Amino acid sequence: MTDTPHDRMHVVSDETRNLVNLVLDYSRRRTLAVDTPLDHPMKDSELTRLAGPTISEEGLGSARALAIFEHIFAPACITTDHPKYLSFIPSAPTKAAVAFDLVVSASALYGGSWLEGAGVVHAENEVLSWLASEFGLPKTAGGVFVQGGTIGNLSALVAAREAQKAKLGDTRPGRWVIVCSAEAHSSVKSAADVMDVDIAPVPTDESGILRPEGVREALEEHGDAVIAVVATSGTTNFGTIDDIAGIAALKDDFDFWLHIDGAYGLAAMLSPLAKHKFAGVERADSVIVDPHKWLFAPFDACALIYRDPRNGRRAHTQKAEYLDTLTESDEWSPSDYAIQLTRRPRGLPLWFSLATYGAQTYRDAISHSIDLARQISTEIKKRPNLRLVRDPELSVVVFERVGWEREDYDAWSDKLLEEQRAFVVPSSHDGRPNARFAIVNPLTTFDDLVDILDTME
Ligand SMILES: *Cc1c(COP(=O)(O)O)cnc(C)c1O
Repeated sequence: MTDTPHDRMHVVSDETRNLVNLVLDYSRRRTLAVDTPLDHPMKDSELTRLAGPTISEEGLGSARALAIFEHIFAPACITTDHPKYLSFIPSAPTKAAVAFDLVVSASALYGGSWLEGAGVVHAENEVLSWLASEFGLPKTAGGVFVQGGTIGNLSALVAAREAQKAKLGDTRPGRWVIVCSAEAHSSVKSAADVMDVDIAPVPTDESGILRPEGVREALEEHGDAVIAVVATSGTTNFGTIDDIAGIAALKDDFDFWLHIDGAYGLAAMLSPLAKHKFAGVERADSVIVDPHKWLFAPFDACALIYRDPRNGRRAHTQKAEYLDTLTESDEWSPSDYAIQLTRRPRGLPLWFSLATYGAQTYRDAISHSIDLARQISTEIKKRPNLRLVRDPELSVVVFERVGWEREDYDAWSDKLLEEQRAFVVPSSHDGRPNARFAIVNPLTTFDDLVDILDTME
């Protein structure tokens, strides 16, 4: 101990103790609260007016800074884990996962290399292996938790291109091509832009499903230029699952990399209600699924899994003199499997939660959402003023209010949030506006959804 510390920020003192207690108390209250309102965004000018400048030479002190967060900034953020948050893809982290996220920060864990993080890398890998076996992938499959599905898709597609380069040797196509459905997630297009490669969009059938016939044509047309075929197992808009079994069967005739974008939907493979819909995933060369969507982990985490992790490593290992001790070793370093270097072990909250509750609890929680989506669809069909756009495949329900224009949906949605009843933003399909429930929160009830339907009378 020294009585002349260089700064107040790192030493353990009474001031530090108070600060840590204050922040942990807040975290405890927020984690255990059952009545956190939905809240709503605010104008930047309003936030400036309320909070004033918060960065100064002297600092505000922790009590004041936390009060500004709690009373001004936090209420200007929509509560994404609220049971009536039904837009985009909601978040519904388990209490164990949320609590353990604090531990990840408190322990300054480094998840990039085996040398520095062996214990946590082991734990993350156990989760990845478990997911891989649920998806029917071989025991040798492995990967890494990255920030989100966008980075997961990009990292997988870069690895796929490296594998194709290795296969082709010195020959190169004029332009590389990614084959995917016209309904593929925007992040696939974004990956193609970053990689400066072309997309060959294959039209879907009338239900939005990518079928093998179109993929076959694309493979015949583009040949060796194809980096990968991307199939989506659970589109964000509808939860539609491509014909993965049919597409995977093309591997008998063509040698191509099959990537499954399951950011939202692949989690449903854990549920006996939906597992059969994912036949063919076991032949994938890479898959992604976002624990921050339907595996009840906090933001932000995407599990990226390669059938043969050596492909990921070949594409992504960074080489630098200061990293030599790491790159020259055979140990498993997560940084080698995606576009990243420094990383927090963001798979640990999921590990702790899975270890705590067991897999069956996860299966049940996912089944709950699938079940609820079916129930509310039946209710929608009963109401003459509503029209179900499609039967739900997983837990996304899309429906129209007969006679409403876009402005009507907008006004209705604004009012729902204003009255703090629900957060449901309008969506659209084939140029027609609609309403969409994305259900992943196990606390969302049938009555919650019926209450919302009642506001559309
Ligand atoms: C959400 C989503 C993504 C993107 O994932 P992020 O974690 O938001 O980057 C990609 N594909 C599908 C199908 C998604 O639902």
